[in-house]
Amino acid sequence: MRALIISLCLLSVIAFGVPHSTSHTPQANKQIVIAAGTVLDGKGGVLHNTRIVVEGSRIVRIDPNAAPVNYDLRGLTVLPGWIDSHVHITWSFGPDGKNAGAGDTTPYATYAAAANAWATLMAGFTTVQSVGSPSDLPLRDAIARGALPGPRILSSAEPLLGRGEQTGTPDEIRAFIRKQKEAGADLIKIFAAGSVRRPQMLLSQEQLNAACDEAKRLGLRTLVHAYKDAVRAAVLAGCTQIEHGPLATDDDLKLMVQKGVWLDPQAGLVMENYLLNKDKFAGTPGYPDEVFPVIKEMIPEYHAFFKQALKIPGLKIVFGSDALAGSHGRNAEEFIDRVRDGGADPAAAMVSANSLAAEALGMGNQIGSVAPGFEADIIALEGDPIKDITAVRRVVFVMKGGVVYKNAPHSGKILQ
Ligand SMILES: [Zn+2]
Repeated sequence: MRALIISLCLLSVIAFGVPHSTSHTPQANKQIVIAAGTVLDGKGGVLHNTRIVVEGSRIVRIDPNAAPVNYDLRGLTVLPGWIDSHVHITWSFGPDGKNAGAGDTTPYATYAAAANAWATLMAGFTTVQSVGSPSDLPLRDAIARGALPGPRILSSAEPLLGRGEQTGTPDEIRAFIRKQKEAGADLIKIFAAGSVRRPQMLLSQEQLNAACDEAKRLGLRTLVHAYKDAVRAAVLAGCTQIEHGPLATDDDLKLMVQKGVWLDPQAGLVMENYLLNKDKFAGTPGYPDEVFPVIKEMIPEYHAFFKQALKIPGLKIVFGSDALAGSHGRNAEEFIDRVRDGGADPAAAMVSANSLAAEALGMGNQIGSVAPGFEADIIALEGDPIKDITAVRRVVFVMKGGVVYKNAPHSGKILQ
């Protein structure tokens, strides 16, 4: 009986084959050769007319003579899969079409989160940092097991929401941080201020010190949602990265450079998305009708802050889209905003989502570069994002960890 089952299984494999896209774990000894005309290596370098050799989940060689070629990506721009340092992967619209937030745990919300992960991966993002809800932990683990397709997820578990004195004593805050570590957090997210319109600090210096110190003691990075004074306070507290940041002064930003603190500012997508999906957000918690004109007014302020940050020598600016309901799979629009409206150099914008973002994640020797020894996270775009940043919308090939998830027809010219 057992032999029969085995032979039936074999038969079905022979009859139908095993397409790459249904297997999320790479084949260990199989070599895959990718031919490329132009490779942005993720660190600011460019390779021409070469071949990338992948074995298992990793890039093993760059060898222009490697053969046979499995994927011919000549005529496209090949680069490392992008890293989005700030998403809310579980945040979706509910069955009524309205904003359902990030913490919903219904079966509908669960499938919606899985769909967000798929959309994000198809858009060329092979790693994301999800910051703001513990409901992304099982999704992270399912993807890591190879049970679901999606980007590699790093999760903050439950964020520390600043609520003034109510947040707790420094000791209570330390206990909260330890609880997140036990729950499986890869990093700690802290809300230390309100918004651009209400930028007051929600945590005291002492409370912030406790949070970031305890995280550091446990080996966890700290991402701090901060505006105005909270930026400097977080830097002084030894936190790792500032999210958003408007109303910080040049001196605050220079202090960030001195202390090696990362900045993840946004140049538009998150606010454009609220306006684009106004009907779906309006009237849901946190989104009264009167907030939308305010959001519209805020966009130029974010552009101005992005430009201000670019002028600070040595400031490490990483890519983070703040993707939420309505913008999963459109994360790359933030590149266009940064270049078109924020004044970013397109090559630097790419690096900010490749090697620089990887370094900020503490994964600088694993992801974010096309080089031997790195994870085979490789994407290809139709067009050249350095000449035309809108090429980031045209992702036609996605490999993550040596598995090809997307290999769409494209009009890239094949050079002989
Ligand atoms: Zn966010």
